[in-house]
Amino acid sequence: MADRTERQDQATIHAGGEWLEAVSGATREILDPADARPFAVVAEGDEKDAERAVAAARQAFDQGPWPHTPAAERAALLRRVAGLLVRDREELGLLESRDAGKTVEEGRVDIDCVADAFRYFADLVAAEAPGRVVDAGSPEIHSVVVHEPVGVCALITPWNYPLLQASWKIAPALAAGNTFVIKPSEITPMTTIALIELLAEAGLPAGVANLVTGPGHTVGARLAEHPDVDLVSFTGGLVSGTKVAQAAAPTVKKVALELGGKNPNVVFADACATEEGFDTAVDQALNAAFIHSGQVCSAGARLIVEESVRERFVTELARRATKIRLGRGTEEGVECGPLVSEQQRARVEAYVASALAEGAVLRCGGKRPEPSPQRPGAGYFYEPTVLDACHREMKVVREEVFGPVLTVETFTTEEEAVFLANDTEYGLAGGVWTSDPGKARRVAGRLRHGTVWINDFHPYLPQAEWGGFGRSGTGRELGPAGLAEYRETKHVYQNLAPKPVRWFAG
Ligand code: NAD
Repeated sequence: MADRTERQDQATIHAGGEWLEAVSGATREILDPADARPFAVVAEGDEKDAERAVAAARQAFDQGPWPHTPAAERAALLRRVAGLLVRDREELGLLESRDAGKTVEEGRVDIDCVADAFRYFADLVAAEAPGRVVDAGSPEIHSVVVHEPVGVCALITPWNYPLLQASWKIAPALAAGNTFVIKPSEITPMTTIALIELLAEAGLPAGVANLVTGPGHTVGARLAEHPDVDLVSFTGGLVSGTKVAQAAAPTVKKVALELGGKNPNVVFADACATEEGFDTAVDQALNAAFIHSGQVCSAGARLIVEESVRERFVTELARRATKIRLGRGTEEGVECGPLVSEQQRARVEAYVASALAEGAVLRCGGKRPEPSPQRPGAGYFYEPTVLDACHREMKVVREEVFGPVLTVETFTTEEEAVFLANDTEYGLAGGVWTSDPGKARRVAGRLRHGTVWINDFHPYLPQAEWGGFGRSGTGRELGPAGLAEYRETKHVYQNLAPKPVRWFAG
């Protein structure tokens, strides 16, 4: 097998069990965000490659064995995939780090979470009853509700958690008996290519798993509109997600959207009453905002802190933010890697400039760091940034920045805290910090977000649904609902003693 961290073979499109170059012959260099140097070359697919992959997935669904493979066998295959991920953890963690810029330790944790997703969906389908018998009120009627695979699934994923987001789609799609075509982000396709190799190694029949590397406006758009695709599951930004929903509408395919967030982290003063409580709330606010340089859909990018503790809280937060060690993700001791691309850094810089023009107060960061041996000048680094004195009308408070930028707003009453936390078009996730259990439950109950953390931030569980209210999306990933997305429900009504109904006299 080729060295996955230096792949130069250009045959990265997978259709019907074959590794292929793009029909057009086009290729793309994959850059390391830490130094902007290409470290791999992949095929740059387009609509023609999408057609070829959909045809393979369609054939495998309509004529292949996978949709009819018993659940126990599908589960066994998913468990074998989890085992291969554990075997290749170091290599895949390193590859994720080079591709997406995250630290290698974050890369390893991602691979562990990917393996967890495969195990979870394996266990879920293996334990299921084959159908739900319905009491039809007559011994002559046998009525059962069964779940069947949707068919051919188009899976479109972003660059921030390339393999993790892919696994939240691939594992349930396979567990349910579907075939699929995945299109990873064009700038971070490397670990998804590796996963497709592992699926084949685990024994998945040819044509079930297909992959097209290439851009969203060609490959992604064609997959979303294709009449032979039965479901499109998309994770990415609001603008692209809206286009996917529009492209999918004429063929009335199932659509699941996991979009962005502008996630509040609400800190009540009582959470900071003890030194330990204060330290924990500050530490977790730092983690909420800056892990993976803030390029996290559920990043706690809006700190909403009670006015009475604001100055102490923000001072300590900014002090610690300036100490975050930025550098190449593969270097020992580095805590935060670069942003994923020059385009992403330019976007962050524009948001910070707009915030300062609108009156925000810069408490730390707000610029590119000085180059160092760990931080090549060509890398896309940006300092963790805390913007104080922000308010709800500011662009930087309303829109998803997707970078290491934390805005600070304040409140004086519980009512105001809830209002501010819900004052967003998104609704992905939010955190509440308080030592008062009653207040915690009251506030959590009123937050319009798909995940609410009380005295914590960021953890998720494969057993618990993940997804958003409002413009953070439709549908859910993970949990039983994350499997249900990939299924059709069928009612089979069997009359054991058929007779004429005589509705029509003649
Ligand atoms: P993006 O929307 O630019 O791209 C996501 C994917 O969609 C890529 O594969 C891209 O090529 C493809 N795409 C782009 N235009 C398309 C089109 N017209 N038709 C079909 N496909 C198209 O997002 P990104 O910049 O890669 O990722 C960052 C975004 O992802 C952020 O908004 C983040 O919040 C979101 N995200 C959400 C979750 C979640 O669970 N809700 C998780 C991770 C990331």
